[in-house]
Amino acid sequence: MSDANLFPGVRVILVETTHPGNIGAAARAMKNMGLTELVLVNPYNFPNEKAVYRSASAEDVVQSARVVETVDEAIADCQLVIGTSARERRIPWPLLTPKECGVKVNAAAEDNQTVGLLFGREAHGLKNEELQKCHFHLNIPTGEAYSSLNLAMAVQVICYEILQARLGGSHLPPDEEVWDQPFADADAVEHFFSHLQQTLIQVGFHDPDNPRQLLNRLRRLFNRVRLDRMEVNMLRGFLSAINKLGDKRDP
Ligand code: SAH
Repeated sequence: MSDANLFPGVRVILVETTHPGNIGAAARAMKNMGLTELVLVNPYNFPNEKAVYRSASAEDVVQSARVVETVDEAIADCQLVIGTSARERRIPWPLLTPKECGVKVNAAAEDNQTVGLLFGREAHGLKNEELQKCHFHLNIPTGEAYSSLNLAMAVQVICYEILQARLGGSHLPPDEEVWDQPFADADAVEHFFSHLQQTLIQVGFHDPDNPRQLLNRLRRLFNRVRLDRMEVNMLRGFLSAINKLGDKRDP
C-alpha cells in the first residue's frame, strides 16, 4: 500500500466507463484526496493512453486499477456499498448527502471495513439492479436545470468530502464501537438473497412469472438494516429449515 493511500479498503468503482479520459481524471481526483483503490467494471476502452494522460501525476492509480467483469465482482468483499445517482429513482432508498457519506465512510474505514463507492455510466448512470445492491444512495445536490455532473467531477466531490471528514474529525464513532458483529459482505448477502428467492418460490409466496416489486422491496429491507455476518448465518439456517420441511412434505 503506498503512502498516497489514506483510506485502505475504500474503493472507487467506475461501472462501464465509456471515455478513458474520465478514468484518468477520476484517478487524479482520487489521489488528490488520498484515495488510490480504483476498480473498473467492464470499461469500454481501457488500458488507454488518454487515461494515463488525464491522470497527470496519478498514473500509479490508473496503472494499478483492477479491472473486473461485473459489479458483483467489484463489491463482493465490500461491507458498505454506496451508489451515486444524478436522478431520483422510483423506489426511495436510504439517502446520504455527500457530507454524510464522508463521515460514514470514515467510520467504516476506522473499523477496517471494505467500502465500495459506485459510479455509473456517462450516458445512463447505474442500472436499478445495481443501485439495489447498495446500502445507501447518494445524490450531489445541483441546480435544477442540470443535475448530471461529469463522472470525474462527481468522484471529486465525494472524495473531497471523505478527506474533509477525516481532516475535520469524523463525527460518528467507528462502527466497531457501536456494533458487536462484523458486517456481512456483499457476496454473502447476494447468496442470502438468492436463497431467499428460491425459498419464496418453494413456499409459493413468490411467482417468478409475476414478480412485481417483491424481491426489490425485500432487498431494500435487508440492505436498510445492514445485515451482520451472524444475522446472515441465522437467516440462511432458517431458510434451510424451511427448505427441508418443504422437501419432507413434497418429496
Ligand atoms: N444520465 C445519467 C448521468 C450519468 S453521469 C443519469 O441520469 O444517471 C455519470 C455518473 O456520475 C453517475 O452515474 C453518477 O455516478 C455520477 N454523478 C453525476 N451527477 C451526479 C449527481 N448529481 N449526484 C451523484 N452522482 C452523480
